[in-house]
Amino acid sequence: SSDGLILSFGEMLIDFVPTVSGVSLAEAPGFLKAPGGAPANVAIAVARLGGRSAFVGKLGDDEFGNMLAGILKENGVNGDGILFDKGARTALAFVTLRSDGEREFMFYRNPSADMLLKEQELNLELIRSAKVFHYGSISLITEPCRSAHIRAMKEAKKAGALLSYDPNLRLPLWPSAKEAREQIMSIWDQAELIKVSDVELEFLTESNKVDDESAMSLWHPNLKLLLVTLGEKGCRYYAKHFRGSVEAFKVKAVDTTGAGDAFVGALLRKIVNDLSILEDEKRLREVLRYANACGAITTTKKGAIPALPTDPEVLKFIKG
Ligand code: ADP
Repeated sequence: SSDGLILSFGEMLIDFVPTVSGVSLAEAPGFLKAPGGAPANVAIAVARLGGRSAFVGKLGDDEFGNMLAGILKENGVNGDGILFDKGARTALAFVTLRSDGEREFMFYRNPSADMLLKEQELNLELIRSAKVFHYGSISLITEPCRSAHIRAMKEAKKAGALLSYDPNLRLPLWPSAKEAREQIMSIWDQAELIKVSDVELEFLTESNKVDDESAMSLWHPNLKLLLVTLGEKGCRYYAKHFRGSVEAFKVKAVDTTGAGDAFVGALLRKIVNDLSILEDEKRLREVLRYANACGAITTTKKGAIPALPTDPEVLKFIKG
């Protein structure tokens, strides 16, 4: 098809999520095994919306890895860039649902398969065919995957892809906040489209403010669009010549997991075939309304992947 390929790069993993909030996984009466990993969620979001989608990342050659690869395939995501590590296991995340609704994570990464992705293993042909390369990994931190990630981004950019970035800050992964900030900023300066949450904006600017000044302090000349998602308050957008907000849709949220990924997937799906939308505020606002709708729908069902909508569902939701 003539549709541009959106390639999501990073990890896919299993989230172990307690069935009740306010207690640790060990104390919970039960738990769910939910497929996740932000880049994989984005890949599936794009495919559900009818876009051409590929996922590149490494899984363990184990029960979980095979299950996750199956989920991508079932959803129509191109898996030609999926690798299986012979020795290491698929990454796992153990989630605590705090009573305030926020999620805390612990990870099985000892090392997990995604951390062992090597530069020489990358499917460069697939990577070079991307129109949009979305980087959303939490794994940049160590070798060998660090070099592999940097190489993949470089190849995609060299071949003309737009580099999209979501830092997906998961603080416990880093030895210090300073190192987390430095690593995120090393990619930040190359990305042309960035989406952060309000919490990430506060973290990166080392302030407790979420305003235009703090967002603009992170602006750089390669950037075409910076988005700050604000949950039930919608999103703010910053481009070279304009900025503004798009309101959220009112819904009864039951689980916000994956809302940000649905938002990113929808946005990328809508711009991939015409990147000039990023410079046209009127058309961009329409796209962001669609992305907000996708985010909102995703909060109305449990889990991330099961909650991601199709294009007809979004259009129907927007009509009300
Ligand atoms: P992240 O998951 O990255 O923290 P958000 O929670 O801000 O991102 O969600 C992304 C988008 O999804 C928001 O910009 C908004 O449009 C939509 N959304 C999220 N939570 C809600 C909510 N409670 N009500 C309506 N829309 C929501």
